[in-house]
Amino acid sequence: MDNTSAQNLWSLMLTTLEAEVSAITFDVWIKTLEAWELDEGKLVLLAPSEKSRDFVLQRYHTLISSVMKKHNHLLQELEVLDPSSLEKQQPKTKVAVESVSTAKSLNFEPVLLNSKYNFDSFVVGKSNQLVYATARAIAEDPGKRYNPLFIYGGVGLGKTHIMHAIGNAIRKNTDYSKVLYVSSEKFTNEFIEGIRQGSQTSNSFREKYRTVDVLMVDDVQFFAHKDGTQEEFFHTFNDLYSTGRQIVLTSDRPPKEIGGLADRLQSRFECGMIADIQSPDLETRIAILQKKAQTENQNLPLEVISFMAERINNNIREMEGLFNKVVLLSLLENKAPTIDIVKTALKDYEEKTAESVSMEDIIDRTCVYYNMDKGDVLGKQKTKEIVETRQMCMYLITELLSVPLATIGTVFGGRDHTTVMHARNKVADKLKDNQRLKLQVQDIKDLLFKA
Ligand code: ADP
Ligand code: MG
Repeated sequence: MDNTSAQNLWSLMLTTLEAEVSAITFDVWIKTLEAWELDEGKLVLLAPSEKSRDFVLQRYHTLISSVMKKHNHLLQELEVLDPSSLEKQQPKTKVAVESVSTAKSLNFEPVLLNSKYNFDSFVVGKSNQLVYATARAIAEDPGKRYNPLFIYGGVGLGKTHIMHAIGNAIRKNTDYSKVLYVSSEKFTNEFIEGIRQGSQTSNSFREKYRTVDVLMVDDVQFFAHKDGTQEEFFHTFNDLYSTGRQIVLTSDRPPKEIGGLADRLQSRFECGMIADIQSPDLETRIAILQKKAQTENQNLPLEVISFMAERINNNIREMEGLFNKVVLLSLLENKAPTIDIVKTALKDYEEKTAESVSMEDIIDRTCVYYNMDKGDVLGKQKTKEIVETRQMCMYLITELLSVPLATIGTVFGGRDHTTVMHARNKVADKLKDNQRLKLQVQDIKDLLFKA
């Protein structure tokens, strides 16, 4: 069943809902719901169990329903199913629930800023002080000194948070009212939708993006290899830039490492301020958890907080996930959070974490999986099988470990970092629509983490 429009709507709704409820409620009850179907004025969600469906209906139906109507006023009804009620239903024969009216009203609506992502809730440490200082300066005086601001850094390190903080502060403190935040994927989808629906829609797309005071685009690495979107964005950028409007961009890597990016766009990305966010040190991690405990009104002993902060070191989102889990477990066990509870919460996390895996493990397992000789894979030969295995190794290393591309190149017979980048992008591209390759990646990861 095609439920893309349900999923699109639901992912927009999630952003709004996240700002409306506590983080624990969000993680446990809201985020676990799945978009099932969007049909004739009704959104259907699927809860993971009967118990959670009942709970959601009782506690959050009104809220979710009002958020749904805010995003699309044509929708009237919200239904929440659980897996057992699904089995009783007749299998749906109708495909494509797409409705044009939904697409139209959805696509051009601005994504709301998450009010929880502000400067006050952002803990500053060595790892992010440059970004923080620049962000504050921009929030006070948009479009002047640092334009564009290009923020880059690994997953879960606060890029989106600081971006929303800039937007929230500008909306609050200045008379710049048109602050637009968008993911690069949403920008791309709207651009394509504009083309699909004809010139009127295309024009309103342009109008929307070229008349803002501040444009913030999240995760621009996804512009890679999308030539049409890049061209459109290039013109949008120039329009805004030349009239002194502020542009803020984020990416998981610096512009020159994105690859598949037109030179002229790369040079635009580099023409203002480039600031990176690093993994936070222990002190900062502790401070983040303390702040979180404070906002969530949870009383956690320092030793418990430190223990958590020591265990997770390069992804704040995961650290917050652990925090939520610890709070939930202690709630269920009806006792104060302890180190033992943290250990329990860590168990399934640790099975998955890449910490214990080395570059060598990845190469070994990948060679075993494809039945290739390790010497060949690390060597110079260019037969198809060898090259594909080599590229898969490089891809997995970049995905699972944070090793500089140049180091990886050295391990693979002194290759250049651009070769590694090319390999990674190539596999990542293929993964987008190659189901078999996706399964292979999963298999190799299973070999790595479950063995
Ligand atoms: P990214 O966009 O870099 O993947 P996010 O901005 O989504 O990361 O951050 C992940 C989570 O970590 C968010 O809940 C965010 O609020 C939190 N976070 C990140 N950095 C900080 C920080 N310096 N202080 C407080 N919370 C932070
Ligand atoms: Mg982000």
